[in-house]
Amino acid sequence: MKKNILITKVQRFSMNDGPGFRTNVYIKGCGLKCIWCHNPETQSASEEIYWKKMQCEQCGLCLDACPQNAINPPIPPEEARKEGSSYHKIKKERCDACMKCVDVCPYGALERVGLPMTVEEILEEVESDRVFYDNSGGGMTISGGEPLTQCDFVEMLMNEARKKEISICLDTSGNGPWGDLKRLADKADIVLYDLKHLDSDEHMKLTGVPNERILANLINLSRNGSKIWLRVLVIPDYTDSYAYHAKVIDYLNRLDRPVDRIDLIPYHNWCEDKYAWLGRTWPMYEYEALANWDVEPIMEIYAEAGLNTTIGGSGFEN
Ligand code: SF4
Ligand code: SF4
Repeated sequence: MKKNILITKVQRFSMNDGPGFRTNVYIKGCGLKCIWCHNPETQSASEEIYWKKMQCEQCGLCLDACPQNAINPPIPPEEARKEGSSYHKIKKERCDACMKCVDVCPYGALERVGLPMTVEEILEEVESDRVFYDNSGGGMTISGGEPLTQCDFVEMLMNEARKKEISICLDTSGNGPWGDLKRLADKADIVLYDLKHLDSDEHMKLTGVPNERILANLINLSRNGSKIWLRVLVIPDYTDSYAYHAKVIDYLNRLDRPVDRIDLIPYHNWCEDKYAWLGRTWPMYEYEALANWDVEPIMEIYAEAGLNTTIGGSGFEN
């Protein structure tokens, strides 16, 4: 069993990932590649480096420090910062993640993404906010990336959190073996389950994987009696029509046991910088973020169907 795994970050005071105030543990690594992913730094299971071009003065110290010749030579900062510039500091194919460049950068332009952490180290951070959990009904949310990619470690983390009486939410795309999902779901108070697209071909196009296993796991979870908060993505041009959501409602009505809550998650684009820092292009750069009021008419059809629904998934709504 692994003693530690790569964690992208441990984020305190989240208010939209389960009830109350939560500490989110973002596991690094995911089998899906959603085109709207707002946490692209969690997709790769390897350590990565952000290069923040607006902070880079092109001093060249990182170039001197790199043993792998993985740093591009300096160019004038204003050229590197120009919108649409294809210049990126790090040649990813050569980098072995030694982090020597991060250590020498005097301007904070390089940042490590992904830190190996043990169960004890994670829980120490999580426990520091216990008073907020007690006052708000909050706890720890294990997210990603995809927790199912590190099932044994996550189970160990859940076991230890249980001993400390910390409430647990599992945030998953459901893209894994049912046996693994059941192991984790049975230890969680609530499963936050993503519904990205009902149609398998569309799902494949949008996430890189088909959805048969994911939908089968949702049916299994429902039969298992797990408490489910279903996160239904609202993505412009893909999942923002009434007809699509009418199909979702019809599908949910056919589950053996209704889901406990539906959270409509409007598309946003606050992640654009992170793509640039990783040297990647934000696939949905042409799309404006949706506001809550854009999604309200969709929420009404869920309400008319008698389904307990929020927009955004606040942990302070019933
Ligand atoms: S050390 Fe930092 S500021 Fe200097 S070139 Fe490298 S990334 Fe830019
Ligand atoms: S992490 Fe190491 S190998 Fe990668 S670019 Fe920085 S110094 Fe070079």
